[in-house]
Amino acid sequence: MASIQQDKIIEHAILSTQKLRASVAKSFHHLQDGTSNTQDDEDKIKAFVSKLQEDLSTVNDNYTELERFTASMVPLGDKAQLHNSGFLSLDPITDKTPIYTQALQSYKWAAKLHTHSTQALSVLQHSWSLKRSSGVTSLSSKKTETTINYMVNKVIVQLDRQYPDISITKVQPFSNVYQVSLGRTLQVILVLRSLLIERVIVRAHHEHILKDDGTLDIWAKSRYEVFQKITDHATSAMLHYDLHSLPELSIMSFMKWLHSYINFFSTPCRRCGKHLKDNLPPTWRDFLSLDPYHETCRL
Ligand SMILES: [Zn+2]
Repeated sequence: MASIQQDKIIEHAILSTQKLRASVAKSFHHLQDGTSNTQDDEDKIKAFVSKLQEDLSTVNDNYTELERFTASMVPLGDKAQLHNSGFLSLDPITDKTPIYTQALQSYKWAAKLHTHSTQALSVLQHSWSLKRSSGVTSLSSKKTETTINYMVNKVIVQLDRQYPDISITKVQPFSNVYQVSLGRTLQVILVLRSLLIERVIVRAHHEHILKDDGTLDIWAKSRYEVFQKITDHATSAMLHYDLHSLPELSIMSFMKWLHSYINFFSTPCRRCGKHLKDNLPPTWRDFLSLDPYHETCRL
């Protein structure tokens, strides 16, 4: 009902504007003839002034009427935000088909959704690199996991093709932990977040990945010093090759570096030429040349 009243007011305001324009035009029309300033025409002058007063009085009445209608009109407010869509509110049958009200509501929701999603995106981007995973992905993020799994599987297929002597297998379903076997040399536990490597543990083949209670053990180091050393170097390599913007290149570069350990026990040190030094084989691999060095020979 309110909108019907508003429509009536607008209609009357338009009529008042037309009346005002007509009365102003009439006043100027009477003024343009003017009158002669002589004694003989005194009656004419009086008639002219009287007519002018009458015209101005009409203009004043019309103006007051228009001002009254203008004061009783409701400002457009939010309607202005929708630009041309705001004209929908002028539809006389708004009460029966509330398209404008619904459009306004949708607009508000869309604007709110956009604001919240922008904020959520910035928060997620910020926490992405800081949050550590527990090694097990929750079932609630199944949909996201499907997309991530697709990306990870694609890279694993590529790695399998490139390095036939490396096997990569997922330790448990719904986990982001992978077991990488390097021939008969060693095994690596890789904890991934999407394609980013979060943690690397190098162990002997016969060392277990699962604890006695069947849960994943992604923290315990190998009990062999040689694999502890390689774990430290692999962690350095993980950070060295880390490229947040190019995760595929990052993991491929890391795997190339890791593959250089394939003949670990039979490759001599590049500097001293010995197989053993301090009872250890050359555990370090150069990040660029991938050449083997003893830890004390690399400097
Ligand atoms: Zn050496």
